[in-house]
Amino acid sequence: MKIVTLGTSSAVPTLYRGLSSTALIREGDVFLFDCGEGTQLQLMRSGIRRNRIHSIFIGHLHGDHLYGVNGLMSTMHLDNREAPLNVFGPQGLLTFLHASFRTTSLKLNYPVTVREFPRGFRGRVLDETEFHVDAMPLDHSIFCLGWRFQEKPRPGVFDLERAEALGIPRGPLYGKLQNGHPVTLDDGRTIRPGDVLGPARPGKSIAYCLDTQFSERSIALAGDATVLIHETTFGPDGVAMARERKHSTMEDAARVAREAGTDRLIATHFSSRYDRKQVKKIADAARPVYENITIARDLQEIEI
Ligand SMILES: [Zn+2]
Ligand SMILES: [Zn+2]
Repeated sequence: MKIVTLGTSSAVPTLYRGLSSTALIREGDVFLFDCGEGTQLQLMRSGIRRNRIHSIFIGHLHGDHLYGVNGLMSTMHLDNREAPLNVFGPQGLLTFLHASFRTTSLKLNYPVTVREFPRGFRGRVLDETEFHVDAMPLDHSIFCLGWRFQEKPRPGVFDLERAEALGIPRGPLYGKLQNGHPVTLDDGRTIRPGDVLGPARPGKSIAYCLDTQFSERSIALAGDATVLIHETTFGPDGVAMARERKHSTMEDAARVAREAGTDRLIATHFSSRYDRKQVKKIADAARPVYENITIARDLQEIEI
């Protein structure tokens, strides 16, 4: 899987940082988390093909996370997109989209499923063969959902030597066992998948927590995740502002990453008051709390 941080500023864009959006690319499908203004340009710059977007997740209805989605959906219409699109977000999202499209007399020519979640919602929003996505309310100034993208565990590695030693003939029986089905041989013996497969391989997981102040819910959502993407709007000088506006400092995010036991923290959503050097200093100051912090840049590609 690959994460591409498309926009990493908070509230307003800067010359170097666009508004919030992060793409997750898995097996050719693109999952977009938030869609601030300018996201479609960043998608083009990144080389991500917008026709591969499978679902868009809007965490909350603040403009810096939302104002790019109607433009992007309109461009997909002009692309003559045929593939269906999911758009997930809090209640109110549909009103915003309807107003945009009605005002501009746009009738989308591809199928869109918009799912709105009421205040306090938590649960599974997408369940596919190889992965699922869960939502959990965070703690921001308005209702805000965090997301967890979770790959399902894959079956263990097939042990060829063991299969041969057991006298299983090569061919379709191997495939059946690999897919978790027992098989019966010509001599009447039954072989179970566990006889030839190693332990199941756990899937990777990404937790996305924008915007929120420090919260036990973020820790729960990000439990043992491969990667936590967390907002880090402020540094140590902005603690009071962070509390007042229900945002996080870098240290808050580091605590969430540590307590959740995640492998890696991607820090994003930086206040425009800080330049790159200051953000680096802020991250260094938080590393005693949690070491593995990646300071996201716009258009950065992160393999996981
Ligand atoms: Zn924001
Ligand atoms: Zn916000």
